[in-house]
Amino acid sequence: MTVSIPFDNSFAALPEGFYTRLDPTPVARPSLVAFNRPLADLLGIDAPGDEDELARIFSGSEVPNGAAPLAQLYAGHQFGQFNPQLGDGRAHLLGEVVGTDGIRRDIQLKGSGPTPYSRMGDGRAWLGPVLREYVVSEAMHALGVPTTRALAAVRTGEDVFREGPMPGAVLTRVAQSHIRVGTFQIYAARRDLEALKALYDYTVERHYPEATDPGDLLQRVIDRQAALVAQWMSLGFIHGVMNTDNTLLSGETIDYGPCAFLDAYHPDTVFSSIDRFGRYGYTSQTDVIVWNMAQLATALLPLTPDPEAAVETFTAQVHAMPDLIRAEWERRFAAKLGISNPRPQDKTLVSDLLTRMQANQADFTNTFRGLLTGTARDEFTDRDAFDAWEPRWRQRIAEEPEPEALMARSNPCFIPRNHRIEQMIEAAVAGDDAPFHRLNAVLARPYEDQPDAEDLSRAPLPDERIAATFCG
Ligand code: AMP
Ligand code: MG
Ligand code: MG
Repeated sequence: MTVSIPFDNSFAALPEGFYTRLDPTPVARPSLVAFNRPLADLLGIDAPGDEDELARIFSGSEVPNGAAPLAQLYAGHQFGQFNPQLGDGRAHLLGEVVGTDGIRRDIQLKGSGPTPYSRMGDGRAWLGPVLREYVVSEAMHALGVPTTRALAAVRTGEDVFREGPMPGAVLTRVAQSHIRVGTFQIYAARRDLEALKALYDYTVERHYPEATDPGDLLQRVIDRQAALVAQWMSLGFIHGVMNTDNTLLSGETIDYGPCAFLDAYHPDTVFSSIDRFGRYGYTSQTDVIVWNMAQLATALLPLTPDPEAAVETFTAQVHAMPDLIRAEWERRFAAKLGISNPRPQDKTLVSDLLTRMQANQADFTNTFRGLLTGTARDEFTDRDAFDAWEPRWRQRIAEEPEPEALMARSNPCFIPRNHRIEQMIEAAVAGDDAPFHRLNAVLARPYEDQPDAEDLSRAPLPDERIAATFCG
């Protein structure tokens, strides 16, 4: 074995009842699609050349030295319904490493075989969602969003049955941890105070060593989640499945199943094929995250010395969250206009632009980037709508020190557009991985103009538009 991963496992030291120890299921013919070398370097992984060995390890066919594979237990509200027992149904935590930046991270295989928590599922993933998550999570990272990352993608050489036979694949996901709101919920629902306390202590030590008590932890998570969702909004990102088991205590984005970025701006946009009532549509995200934090608050209550008194303070904390989100939202959208220190009146400038964009089906990303390059006007079917707005904005940013620099780092040229991802998946299923590698390369520098990649910044033509995304 030449690949060496400096495992330093802490979750596996928690009592039984937090997980089931078991190895991934080996696959027929593992072959490497991608291995993220810069991320491997950050993690301190030594992986000289041998692709076959990487494919064996990151498909779950060979357990690397020092790994202690396990499937984690959790619960969660899925579309508002509490499910008292979920868990990794198709994922194995191999273990943790402490990176060269001193940060501890999980290395988890996804699609690596059944576990006791698979319910009716097959424990597998197919190539499409694996490559989607790889591209989108790495793009989010390059955009500056806290997120889980992608270390590897491997074809299994086996078919997975969805609508029909699909090529199977395994994704290696890296996260600051996989502790979810739902991880707290399961022990709170079971009234297992001992486990809840152990999880609390573990979470504080790993993520919030400064936290002084459960209310303080709650506040720190609320702060991170408020900032995160506001940042999503500022990039036109729609998560699509904000169940409480998909909300991490670390404040990183997780679960790239049915996510998508807005093309034309419309606040009610919903992509996920299973989100029939629009619970997780674009603008609903700011409400749903508050709801999710209320569930975390509920799960933390039993840890307080006087839960009845804590109900009041926790409720106040949750009720204050919309204002936090709004402040972050205003700061981010002001920055998109080149405004570094927003004033109350700037809100109207932003909302007025968004209203006009909506009426004109203006492309979200290209309109904002176009403010910098002078092409925003072209995104409007009614140019007068833009022309009526522009002078007020120009006047405002004349008072700003460096509006262009701020706009250039707040408005990407490139986002992982849904139609390009679908085209990439189609090619990969047919055996051509070139579009996948090209997307990754371009999206690694999303704020830079790349003249040879203009096809990837263009909005979809009517016949290219994707109406729905599926979780796979
Ligand atoms: P998600 O909606 O992606 O957050 O997944 C919800 C739950 O379903 C998680 O506990 C997953 O582990 C489980 N799950 C999803 N797909 C599968 C599958 N193909 N096999 C087993 N479990 C699955
Ligand atoms: Mg999930
Ligand atoms: Mg998922």
